[in-house]
Amino acid sequence: MTSFLIIGAGATGLGAAVRLTELGVDYVLVEAGEHVGGMSASITDPGGFTWDLGGHVIHSHFPEFDQAVADAGVQLNAVTRNGWVWLEGTGPEALVPTPIQQQLDELPTDLLPDAPIANLADYYRNHFGERLYRSFFEPYNHKMWTTPLEEIDDSWTSLRSGSDARNVPRLALAGTIGAVESTFPYPVGGTGALWRAVAEKLTPMDRMRLGTRVVSLDTARRIASLGDGTTLPYEHCITSIPTTTALAWAGLGARSAALRASTLYAVGLGVLGDPPEPLADKSWLYCPDRAVSWYRATMLSNYDPGNSGPGRWNVLCEVPVLGGSPVSGVAALAGVIDSLGRLGLDAARIVSRFVQRIEMGYPVPTIGRDDVLREVDAHLTTQGIYSRGRFGGWRYESSNQDYCYLQGRQAVDAALHGHPEDVYWHPEQF
Ligand SMILES: Cc1cc2nc3c(=O)[nH]c(=O)nc-3n(C[C@H](O)[C@H](O)[C@H](O)COP(=O)(O)OP(=O)(O)OC[C@H]3O[C@@H](n4cnc5c(N)ncnc54)[C@H](O)[C@@H]3O)c2cc1C
Repeated sequence: MTSFLIIGAGATGLGAAVRLTELGVDYVLVEAGEHVGGMSASITDPGGFTWDLGGHVIHSHFPEFDQAVADAGVQLNAVTRNGWVWLEGTGPEALVPTPIQQQLDELPTDLLPDAPIANLADYYRNHFGERLYRSFFEPYNHKMWTTPLEEIDDSWTSLRSGSDARNVPRLALAGTIGAVESTFPYPVGGTGALWRAVAEKLTPMDRMRLGTRVVSLDTARRIASLGDGTTLPYEHCITSIPTTTALAWAGLGARSAALRASTLYAVGLGVLGDPPEPLADKSWLYCPDRAVSWYRATMLSNYDPGNSGPGRWNVLCEVPVLGGSPVSGVAALAGVIDSLGRLGLDAARIVSRFVQRIEMGYPVPTIGRDDVLREVDAHLTTQGIYSRGRFGGWRYESSNQDYCYLQGRQAVDAALHGHPEDVYWHPEQF
């Protein structure tokens, strides 16, 4: 019997593995894929372009995560943050710098920051006014979440845009484009280079079984059935696969109905030459225009020139699957090429097309989600199962790489010593 079964070699599973290695506790990590990194992996296509699965920015909230990055020894670029909003998919004249709420020509007169808030729609309207709500926050968030804002909780917003003074509309900041320059770290070789390096430091590596799927758990007897036909008894299980799967294994499949995920395509274009001027210095573009299929375009070659190689550039768009939006990869690709053409993309110079459907992209923080999660977590933990991470935990506000890595670590300490898991349940504390 192994003390810990870890399911999944993404940030969460690797966080658990690092912690167990520090403590000298034995474990087996089982990963269905042939490589580590999960959704934070990077894929290099046959043409030599490297793709992340969606735009990934590292923003560490934890010394333990900083330590993991340092120990991994991965080289980091300092990328200049230069995000813009493409308000209408017409042409470059519709590009506005972010944060858009600081680019107003007159202050909204309909702000109600102290009014009651029942959902995300109320939150954006009250804090930013009807004009910004209609022109940006509603259409953009609907594209990203693939869910009406009235069905989404607002409680996570204190961790993202909006709730503090830095983000509320301030006319004084209008026009200060580029005045507050900041950078973010990005691993040379792509986001996945970090997780490959973290995994390579784990010894002994034979505790990791790549290319092996956990088919089911006998949660009462604590035995896992693996895709290679073997079984694996365990004492504790830390799983980072979608909690909906763990619930089915535990006989609680019906509770999954309350959990919603967005589906999207990651669509990448590798192009010869230099990027067109409107894209040349950008880190990302957000697009609220419903006539444009994607909500975010990330200039991956500006994050790391190695993502494209010299004399070329690459851009990755996130195309949601929602009513009226393209549902086939071919249509998603066509929509991206067409829209970026209006920003100067020369389709004749495209040499690589990357299309990957991501069945679960964002865990949607729907109203009532936490009631379900607390109930199922209470049940699963009594059976020694800690379902954590982006879809293991299903809490958007604690599902970036640094939070997931810490969730994996904290699940170990919870299982062994009953320590609280504040990163999972209380990310607002960090
Ligand atoms: C579009 C998008 C944008 C993102 N942007 C950012 C960002 O800007 N910054 C940031 O920090 N993070 C970002 N993330 C999140 C980041 O990718 C996650 O934090 C991280 O990948 C989650 O790690 P995880 O280990 O919880 O889950 P995952 O990465 O999903 O790993 C789960 C692993 O489990 C494996 N698995 C599944 N089923 C089984 C099974 N039955 N048996 C064995 N193994 C199995 C999978 O193959 C996978 O490797 C983004 C993610 C997406 C999708």
